[in-house]
Amino acid sequence: MEITDVNQYHLQYDMADSFQPAWKPGFEQTEHEVLLFELETDAGISGVATASGFAGRMDYLELAEMFLVGEDPREIESLVEKLDPLNLWGPRPWHFEVALWDIVGKDAGKPIYELLGGSGDPIPAYASTGERQGVDERLAYVEDRVSEGFEAVKLRCHGDDPAPDLEVARRIREAYPDLTLMMDANMGWSVPMVDVEPWSFDDALSVARELEEIGNVGWLEEPLDRRNYEGLARLREKTDVPIAGGEFNNGVHHFREFIKQGSLDVLQPDAVLATGISGGKKVAAMADTHGLEFAPHTWNDGLGFVANLHLLAATGARWCEYPLDPPGWTPESRDFLLEKPVVAEDGAVSPPDGPGLGVDLDWDLIEELDAS
Ligand SMILES: [Mg+2]
Repeated sequence: MEITDVNQYHLQYDMADSFQPAWKPGFEQTEHEVLLFELETDAGISGVATASGFAGRMDYLELAEMFLVGEDPREIESLVEKLDPLNLWGPRPWHFEVALWDIVGKDAGKPIYELLGGSGDPIPAYASTGERQGVDERLAYVEDRVSEGFEAVKLRCHGDDPAPDLEVARRIREAYPDLTLMMDANMGWSVPMVDVEPWSFDDALSVARELEEIGNVGWLEEPLDRRNYEGLARLREKTDVPIAGGEFNNGVHHFREFIKQGSLDVLQPDAVLATGISGGKKVAAMADTHGLEFAPHTWNDGLGFVANLHLLAATGARWCEYPLDPPGWTPESRDFLLEKPVVAEDGAVSPPDGPGLGVDLDWDLIEELDAS
């Protein structure tokens, strides 16, 4: 089988309600922007994958063609090696690896997780918020999630003053003693044109200490820069709260470094952003052999979410991140390019069981939105 062509679609979806991401203070998001790639083959099968976020604003169709056309999509390991210079000189290549798996799964007539030895059982999910909000709004959010069956919620804690976010966590803890809480500081990477003073080591430690008091905290995520292996390790030594990170690290070697330096309790590669699906499996194996937790990041568009669901299902991961912060970030706005959004049931999410990524794209909408 040979890849014969690459198509690129630049999608801008108008969200029904705006969204104020914690990692981009002062910004009101009204569009969900995604770069979709479709790899065509001479077998009549095509594989899809997306680059979301900032990569969604780039145009690298020519580069994609240069690296992929003429190659056998089934030879994933060697193709990932071949894509390494793309990672060096251009955009990260991981989403292309996901499209290769989509082709391989469609060719075999099986979902990706099954090819990788995983199970289609529902994966317990934590509801992942994206905004910083006040106590009343968040208590209402948690009430809704708990009534839907969620047993864990992730809050955001970004910016110069974490006190209001810790107060939110404290008040939720009082009302819901058994709910597992995660806290994401989003200090691992920065957003262009947005000025946020990164936390010092002492800032991060004081947040960790407060979370210890709040109790039943699943983890503190990205309290320091994603490359601050040594600082994260020191922090981990000084607190009982598990330290998590890795969503925007690049390739399995960064995760080897986390492990080598004792930086993290919870490894969180994202199949689309950080490692691909095969690389994510390797990180899961490393986590397992070192007694660490593996909990992939999934905050992405619908295809990215689904790619990570296959990785989660293939690795028996304990928690699936379920990005949800209505009215802005809903299954519909998150998964707009899918025919049907992926919806959690009883606080758990099942990987799609169709061939490949297992989802149908809404091609009519894609053609309509394409701004390429
Ligand atoms: Mg995060």
